[in-house]
Amino acid sequence: MVGEEGRVGEAVAANATADRDQRRRKRWTAYSAASYAVDTLFLALFGAAGTIPWTVAPVYGLVAAALCSGQYVVYALGWNLRFRDPNLTAPFLLAAVAMQLGVVAAAPTIAFPYLSNLFTVFAFGMIWLDPRSSALLWSVGAAATGLVLYAGGSRLAVPVATPLELALGWLYFSLVLGRCVLLSLYASELRSRLERSRRALAATLAQVEQLATHDELTRALNRRSLMSHLEQERGRAERSGVPFSVALMDLDHFKAINDAFGHATGDEALRKFADIVRATMRATDIFGRYGGEEFMMILTGTTAETARLAMERIRAAVAAGTWPVPGKGLTVSIGVAEFRRGENLAQLLGRADMALYEAKRAGRDRVVVGQGEP
Ligand code: GH3
Ligand code: MG
Ligand code: MG
Repeated sequence: MVGEEGRVGEAVAANATADRDQRRRKRWTAYSAASYAVDTLFLALFGAAGTIPWTVAPVYGLVAAALCSGQYVVYALGWNLRFRDPNLTAPFLLAAVAMQLGVVAAAPTIAFPYLSNLFTVFAFGMIWLDPRSSALLWSVGAAATGLVLYAGGSRLAVPVATPLELALGWLYFSLVLGRCVLLSLYASELRSRLERSRRALAATLAQVEQLATHDELTRALNRRSLMSHLEQERGRAERSGVPFSVALMDLDHFKAINDAFGHATGDEALRKFADIVRATMRATDIFGRYGGEEFMMILTGTTAETARLAMERIRAAVAAGTWPVPGKGLTVSIGVAEFRRGENLAQLLGRADMALYEAKRAGRDRVVVGQGEP
């Protein structure tokens, strides 16, 4: 049931993202419609100024309107979702290139401002296209521009014959530059959005890492990471001969705490124990929960005798601690063993475990160093 609900939740979330993407695509269609409208307006002004035939503006406007409505309908019906790039960037950019080159062919006297419009088309492509589609757009754009330039020949011009033409040409060129600026603003917004999601991802990864390596109740390392630290220390000690010791700590008569005060109080006591150990241990030592009410400390660069002293400090701090168990103290028994070159982890832990057993047998609340064979 929970799995089912999870799947339904995922589906709803995926749907919401898809909806948002389609809305974004429709919004971009509206922007490109506005952009085509500005082009059409300037074509009309150039037509009115007598620079180009007046028919160019309405034809351009109609084709642009058909293109944008087609684009909108495709998005609204979701036909775009069948394609690898659901934005359909490449076909729409090719259409935009064709539109600009169409103007250059039909109105060569204003060729250059409209050719410069290709930069905005390609800048948009730089943001959205994959390398293959970029190469396609570039080769088709370059070939088609070559054809149009060849056909236009000496008729291609910059509109500078009259002050009005000049002003219109300048204004239009400024608008093209403005579009480039808007696109770069959009690209930098994309970059910062990317940076934000990268940071969120890094935080999530850190959380996952924390969950995978730590015990949830006591926030100490879990058994898996204790074992990997132990393996690392063993390798280092084998290579360099630097000593290290391991201590197994087991709370005394812990079952009685659970039985008398309940499991929640028992949990609270385990947390408290971990806090006391953390406050007492050295920064270089490694502390974790080995299982249940048993904990482990790996004392790096430490011989058994020094480890015994460190553990004695912890034992005393635990015995002196205030516990969430009314009228009852809590003590810990600790078994210590120093690593011997050539032995494996099971042998090392076996000796620590025997020392712990010895500490329990001798009356608890004490530290015993393992001597004999495991
Ligand atoms: P000893 O001095 O011989 O170690 O006695 P003990 O009662 O501590 O030993 P035993 O191994 O019989 O009992 C351990 C108890 O620790 C039993 C179990 O319920 C309790 N325990 C283990 N894990 C947890 C835990 O996560 N939370 C709580 N509250 N209790 C736990
Ligand atoms: Mg135990
Ligand atoms: Mg115990």
